[in-house]
Parts: sequence; C-alpha cells; structure tokens
Amino acid sequence: MMRFWPVLALLACAVLPWTPGLPVFWVSLLNYIGISSILVVGLVVLTGIGGMTSFAQASFMGFGAYASAILSTRYGVSPWLGLPAAILVSALGAAAIGAVTLRLRGHYLALGTMAVSVSLYYLVANLDFFGRNDGLSTIPPLQIGSYRLTDGRVFLTLVWAMLVAVVVATNNLLDSRLGRAIRALRGGALAASSFGVNTTQVRMLAFVHAAILAAIAGWLYAHLQRSVNPTPFGLFASIEYMLMAVFGGAGYVGGAILGALLVTAINDLLQDWLPKLLGQRGNYETIVFGVILLAVLQVAPEGLWPHIFRGRVRRRVIVDAPPLDRRPHVTSDAPILAVEHLAKRFGGLVAVNDLSFTVAKGEIVGLIGPNGAGKSTSFNLITGVAAPSAGAVALFGQPITGLSPRAIAGHGVARSFQHVKLVPGMSVIENVAIGAHLRGQAGALVAICRQDRGEEARIFAEAAHQLARVGLAGLADRPADSLALGQQRVVEIARALCLDPVLLLLDEPAAGLRHAEKAELAALLRRLRGENVAILLVEHDMEFVMGLVDRLVVMDFGTKLAEGPAEQVRRDPAVIEAYLGVA
Ligand code: ADP
Ligand code: MG
Repeated sequence: MMRFWPVLALLACAVLPWTPGLPVFWVSLLNYIGISSILVVGLVVLTGIGGMTSFAQASFMGFGAYASAILSTRYGVSPWLGLPAAILVSALGAAAIGAVTLRLRGHYLALGTMAVSVSLYYLVANLDFFGRNDGLSTIPPLQIGSYRLTDGRVFLTLVWAMLVAVVVATNNLLDSRLGRAIRALRGGALAASSFGVNTTQVRMLAFVHAAILAAIAGWLYAHLQRSVNPTPFGLFASIEYMLMAVFGGAGYVGGAILGALLVTAINDLLQDWLPKLLGQRGNYETIVFGVILLAVLQVAPEGLWPHIFRGRVRRRVIVDAPPLDRRPHVTSDAPILAVEHLAKRFGGLVAVNDLSFTVAKGEIVGLIGPNGAGKSTSFNLITGVAAPSAGAVALFGQPITGLSPRAIAGHGVARSFQHVKLVPGMSVIENVAIGAHLRGQAGALVAICRQDRGEEARIFAEAAHQLARVGLAGLADRPADSLALGQQRVVEIARALCLDPVLLLLDEPAAGLRHAEKAELAALLRRLRGENVAILLVEHDMEFVMGLVDRLVVMDFGTKLAEGPAEQVRRDPAVIEAYLGVA
C-alpha cells in the first residue's frame, strides 16, 4: 500500500481539483500551498536534516521565477523550456553562493544567507534588467498545444503532481549512500568524514538540491501569477518558509507539506477573521500567528509531523546480494601502523609528546594510561582528525601524516569514538552502512532515479553481516539513540568493520558492557586478529586488556612510559607507580 502512494497521490492530484463546490479561493490557496511545499521540502533536507540554516531560499525561488519570466517575455522562449533554465540558473547560483557561505557554520551561515538574500533583493529591485520594483508582467502562461493552462484547477494538478515528483525524488535521495551522508552531517560530521564522506561536497549537494526545488517553485509561481516582482523573494518570504519547516517538522519531508499547509491556511484565515473579530485592520494576524507558533513549539518542539507520527524508523528488508569488493591483500612486511616521534601541543599543554610505536598485522596492541594521558588525542593524530605538531604516522611504510580523515579512511583505517558518534534518529543498520560509504559509488542522480538499488542491497547485506558479527542483528531497525550506551559502542565497531579495515582503532570499546558482552567482544577481536587486521585498543578495564592484547603501550602525560608484553609491563615499577598505583 505505502509503496503505491505516489500513484494514488497523482490520481488525487488529477481528480480532487474538480471536487464539486471547491471554492475558487481554496483552489488558489492550494496552488500556493503546493508551490511553498516544493520549496520547503528542499529546506527540510538542507536545514532540518542536513543542519544548515538558510534564509536565502526565497532568493533561489526568485532565480527560477525571473529566469523563466525573462526568457519567456523578452526572448519568446517556451515557458516549458523555462523550467530547465530556471533549474540551471538556480543551481549555478547556489554553487557560487554555497562556495562562499558554506564555509560558515551554525549561526554564521544563517547570517551569511541573510546577507545574500538582502543583497539580491536590492540588486533586482534596482536594475532595469529585472524591471526594478515593478518587476516583470505579462508572463505567458504554460501551454499544451493551443491549450493555455490558465484555469487554477488545471494548474493545481500540475503543482501537486510536481510536488509528488519532488517528494519521491527527495525520499530516494535521502534513502541512498549520499542521503545517509547528508543525514550524518548533523551531529556526526566528524564521524562521517572518518568514514570517507566528503562533507564539503555533501553540504553542497544539499544546498544545490534545495536551490533546485526552490527554482521549480519559482517557475510554477511565475507562470501561475504571470507576473513577478522582488517582494515574494525577499528575506521575509525566506523567514516564512523557515517557519513552515519548523512548524511542520524541519526534520521530515512530510513536515514540509504539513507546515506549508498549516501556516498558509492559518495566516489566511486569520487575515480573514481577525479584522471582523477586532473590528479594525492591522497586521494582527502576524502577532496571533506568532503566539500560535510559540504554543505549538512548546508542545511539539520538533514540529507537528513527528508529534503525530511518533518515532517511526523504516524497517529495512535485507536481500541476498553479492558481497562488496574487498581491499586487495597487502603483502608488504612493513608494520601496518608506525607512529614516529608524534607530538601534539594545545597551546601550552603537551597532550602527546614524542610518542613512537608500531602495530603489525594480526596484532592487538593496547594503548593504556590514566585519564588525560593523550590516548584519544593520539587516535585523532593517527586518523587525521587533528594535525600533529611534530612527528609522523605511516601506514605500510607510507607516510599518511597530514592527510584528511577521509583519505586516511580510504587507506583502510577505521575507528570508534570514546564519545559515541552515531546519527541519532537514524536506524542502527543505516548507521552501520555509513561505514561502507567508500565501498559504493552511486551519485545523487543515480540515487534520485533509484538506479542504486543493486549497490544499496550489497551495502546493506554487508551492514547486516557486520551487525550480526558483533551480535546486534536483532537491533538493526531500532533508532541508534534508543540503544544502551555500551551497545552503541558495539554498533560503532560494526560500522568500522564495514570499511573493510586493515587497521582498527577502538577507543574504550568495552566501557559500559556487561561481563558476558565483554567476553564476546574479546572473542570478536581475536577473530579479527586471526584475519590479519591490526588493532589498536584504548581500554581501562585491565582484566579485559590483559587477556587480549599482544603488547601494551603505556602513556602518562603524553609520554610513552613503557612498552612490551602485557605481563612484563604489568611488573614495570614505573607503570605501577604512575598508573596501576597500588594494584
Ligand atoms: P585520554 O584519552 O588519554 O584520556 P586525551 O587525549 O583525551 O586523553 O587528552 C589529553 C590531554 O589533552 C588532556 O589534558 C586534554 O584535556 C587535552 N586535550 C585534548 N583535546 C584537546 C583540545 N582539542 N584542546 C585542548 N586540549 C585538549
Ligand atoms: Mg580518551
């Protein structure tokens, strides 16, 4: 049933506008609701899902509207050809604007897009080319043969059919390799890049996608309204679209439509009723609307959609698929990891100081030391998350110092984090699948057209396999943040295994696990060692470490204190004094 919703929705788009007794006023309102929804779907992906706040979406709508308006009024180009032109202009504009603004983060990005919005508004309002404040009129209508699409009811079918197409395309994108990368931006950007996601590129993808949807909305608007001027594409309009997203549920595609519907309808009703109730004119609807918005956000802080359709994570069906390609076997005899004289200073604090050690294939090395010894910092230096102040890191004898986390992941280094970095709200198995990001290729267009199903099946078969390997197969479809913290750490190990690693860095993997779970984890790590994976392990549970590791490296105040077989290190007086204390 749910699979066929687009077909049913398209049928409804064709039939419902002809509902007897549907007032013309509602036909017009529904046209604008549909157009707004198309734009807000893009905003949801960008802001609610991707975490980038943009107040320039109405500007991109303007790109689309003006592009088609100018082409059709001045150059006699068919309004239908105006659509690809609108998309192209807006996408190029977004690429240029995004190249500058997407470097900004958080509030600064919001402010940057506001500046863009205001500048573009005054640019258009002051240039003769755009018809200044009066804009452009006598825009030709859309036409099929000699039939002119001037009837609001017919236009309604077009608008809502395009909305259906946009929702399907967007859902396809979100449910893909790159879509998971977009969803991973919020909160887990560091983890995403540690698994090879090109976060700059993914941010740009979300930005351009949103701009294209805005351009489609603008194109529809221009040929429905048959005139354009700068006002509906200004900052206030962008703010209103943001309100729609927030009101409906900024993290949900469905929330976009719900928000557009409710905000437009409520505003309109208030504009109608308030003057009658109060007996005088004024912009009272804005005030009342503000109060309603605040009230709704108190009750449903994530917007209305998740409040109504609570906590749904889609179940994933795992189908048999040929396994993903594996990394070629390395024959080099050089140690897999060699750390040489590594140092990291944070201002005056020396977090890591002249640290050297190696990890060979099929070896488990424990990196231990008191809190603050510099273990996690060492992990960050090895994986490219932080740049060393001095020293070098080599993989199979090849230097990797200074490479990005993404490049280092590409060489087969996978990690888990001391502070768990899973994408909350995303299912466990989808989180694990992010680990296989580099083992797939599907791009955005392939995903939108759903031509990535073969590859996706292989990625998810791998994710299911790794999840079963760590003993969490039963939790695949649970939201990641609903698991106990210890289990979330184990999910991170499954995600790391999806990278097909040659080197596995685990930061306190056993923390929060029960005794039996620790034994299972130890057994898994031994099996991986048998498969020639090199493992570097930070762990405080000495019983767990002692029985598992081949060698220990002990750190204290950033410096290596001792190194050697566990038994020998355990008896080292310096280690006993600094770390094991009275034990
Ligand atoms: P461990 O993992 O061994 O407990 P860390 O590597 O997390 O220790 O920290 C080592 C030292 O470096 C600590 O004193 C910590 O406060 C400091 N430190 C870690 N990261 C940063 C940072 N980004 N900025 C400043 N100091 C840091
Ligand atoms: Mg640590």
